[in-house]
Amino acid sequence: LLRVTGLHKRFGENEVLRGIDLEVRRGEVVAIIGPSGSGKTTVLRALNGLEVADAGEIAIDPGLHLDFQYPLTEAHRYGLRDRSAMVFQNYNLFPHRTVLQNVTDAPVRVRGLPRAQAVAEAEALLARVGLADKRDAYPYQLSGGQQQRVGIVRALALKPELLLFDEPTSALDPELVGEVLQVIKELADDGWTMVIVTHEISFARQVADQVLFIDGGVVVERGEPKRILTEPREERTARFLRRLL
Ligand code: ATP
Repeated sequence: LLRVTGLHKRFGENEVLRGIDLEVRRGEVVAIIGPSGSGKTTVLRALNGLEVADAGEIAIDPGLHLDFQYPLTEAHRYGLRDRSAMVFQNYNLFPHRTVLQNVTDAPVRVRGLPRAQAVAEAEALLARVGLADKRDAYPYQLSGGQQQRVGIVRALALKPELLLFDEPTSALDPELVGEVLQVIKELADDGWTMVIVTHEISFARQVADQVLFIDGGVVVERGEPKRILTEPREERTARFLRRLL
């Protein structure tokens, strides 16, 4: 579904991505781990069109191929946004809009879905994550775990081919982490294609088909979760994992 080749990105003097390669098959779950500042979020933002890479290629099958040595057209940028949806660390909900408005806004405004249909779909998704009774609540009336479940529903409402999660549980109190991870696990079981940046190692081990360890803007090591997480081949990976335990 997705192939990323040689992705580079710098912010001023700071070369954040130094040639990232990534392949994600349809239905696959890829977990990205790595130290703070290693470029994990920047990879996701590039996949979602929120950042424009300086060099490299991103292809989504079928039909979308971006080569960053050429200027990006609006069509290309919309192409990325159309086909992926992002779940943010801090939920990024509109504070002055209800849950239902948060979820239906983009489908109606950006995708041109009739409002009644967007509402029906939003209600079904909210019911699925146990939030049917919160549709008219405002974000501040919800717990962090509930807000993040709304964030997930908002991404699902766009019917993306690729779901991107940026440390979806790192802003949550420990007792609320489980309910969000459970929703993500169910989506994985349902066959969604996902890239998840996470510090939850045991979760990555349970749901991921492939784990990438990124450090200093390069993929240091990749492979099957059990192997990477228990018998890393690279010293840098081993050191990172030891620090987490
Ligand atoms: P964390 O786990 O802390 O979220 P990360 O691995 O996701 O870290 P990134 O957020 O991708 O790392 O950031 C990588 C580097 O790029 C950091 O040094 C950060 O300061 C820098 N950076 C990210 N976005 C910008 C920006 N818009 N302008 C300037 N520098 C940026």
